[in-house]
Amino acid sequence: MSNNPNAALRNLPSITTLLEHPTLREAAEQYGQVAVTSAVRSAVDHLRSDLQTGEQAIAQIPPPQQLADQIAKTLLQQDASGIRPVINATGILLHTGLGRAPLAKEAAEAAEQAARGYCNVELDLASGQRTQRSKVVERLLCELTGAEAAHVVNNNAGATGLILATLATGREVIVSHGELIEIGGGFRVPEVISAYGAILRTVGTTNRTRVDDYANAIGEQTGALLVVHPSNYHITGFTEHADLQELAALAREQKVPLVHDIGSGALIDFRQFGCADEPIASASIKAGVDLVFFSGDKLLGGPQCGIIVGQRDLIEQVTRHPLSRALRVDKITLAALHATLKLYRTPEKARQAIPLLRFLSTPQEDLKNRTDRLAEQLRTKLEGWEVQSEPDEAFVGGGSLPQQGVPSYSLVLTSAEHCVEALAGRLRAGEPAVVGRVQQGRLVLNLHGLFEEQDELLSQAVVAATAE
Ligand SMILES: *Cc1c(COP(=O)(O)O)cnc(C)c1O
Repeated sequence: MSNNPNAALRNLPSITTLLEHPTLREAAEQYGQVAVTSAVRSAVDHLRSDLQTGEQAIAQIPPPQQLADQIAKTLLQQDASGIRPVINATGILLHTGLGRAPLAKEAAEAAEQAARGYCNVELDLASGQRTQRSKVVERLLCELTGAEAAHVVNNNAGATGLILATLATGREVIVSHGELIEIGGGFRVPEVISAYGAILRTVGTTNRTRVDDYANAIGEQTGALLVVHPSNYHITGFTEHADLQELAALAREQKVPLVHDIGSGALIDFRQFGCADEPIASASIKAGVDLVFFSGDKLLGGPQCGIIVGQRDLIEQVTRHPLSRALRVDKITLAALHATLKLYRTPEKARQAIPLLRFLSTPQEDLKNRTDRLAEQLRTKLEGWEVQSEPDEAFVGGGSLPQQGVPSYSLVLTSAEHCVEALAGRLRAGEPAVVGRVQQGRLVLNLHGLFEEQDELLSQAVVAATAE
């Protein structure tokens, strides 16, 4: 009879009995009755269907304690599935999947203070009057970019949309052929332009576009000239693009706004970190661009937001557009942005305090020493694994400086007997999670994006994951 599924079904513990089990009563206090009941129901359903299909033998129905422990473990895993800290050992410093720029301590503290209480996000404390919420950061943004006015929205895609909607709905936007780019994840310049009801008018060719090409295209229908920094790709060879200053002169003469999506939002010159030319907001303003816009969480190293700086009358138009409200940033973002921008008043402070800039300033020698030390430590602790310290390249990432590798160092783990992919998986599931890269059967853990105090945590995580 023991192979008769109907008999077996009678041996299944009932949901009510399981819910009375002390382990699951305790779980209910921690995770709530709804979650526990649902986990118990799902476990019993699974057992029932496995018995019916013959995948589970009656003799192997786990005893109640074992079943309760399994359910409690599932609940624990579900509970830990929120946003968890990750050690970024990918070597990509601005990793969109890992939340782009880590904030400076100053910015995180300002964000926490704003989050935990009330703050003057839209209130001028001197006069007691309501204000526009970007006002708290406007002065700093103007100081750092040379612009007359500024506005902050949810992200740079939002800034682009808001500008297009304000200046060019039902009108033409003139863009160079070579700048019809895709940044990734739903940001393709032609589609963005049409999404806001503007009409794309391309000029020039993929590799060469001149100021005359823009001049010939300007007409009654022109809403704006748009220049886009092709962040994540590069054309080399027989190329030419319009000089920004000449384009600005043309725009002024023809009375059409020139707007510039610089992407990454560099406020300082990144050549000091050995990175190639990235457009700097202040240089664009100086060239005479009417509106410059960029992300807050890329090279600027602040919170996710989209920053628009430029001429006061245009900023006011943009701010008044109904879409502006839908793209509004919250007090936490504004507080973090304000604290980040304050650091840039003294660039040395910014280089010290903003993690991205500090990572980029780390000498390769330091990375080598840290990596060597970890490799040595791990060699004595791991069995069946080869551990090397090797020169590597780190990347800025986040759609910035795609080919710009910076000299770096990595731990490399290989094994003749263990599976590298499985180890990478266990590291991702660990606490803290560690994300590296698997390349040609090797696990590469790059130290460039690690805070120094994370070196030890990385080593412990590897020891724990290889011991499993
Ligand atoms: C990254 C990027 C965007 C999108 O910015 P988000 O802040 O991610 O919305 C738009 N344009 C350019 C040129 C970019 O590099």
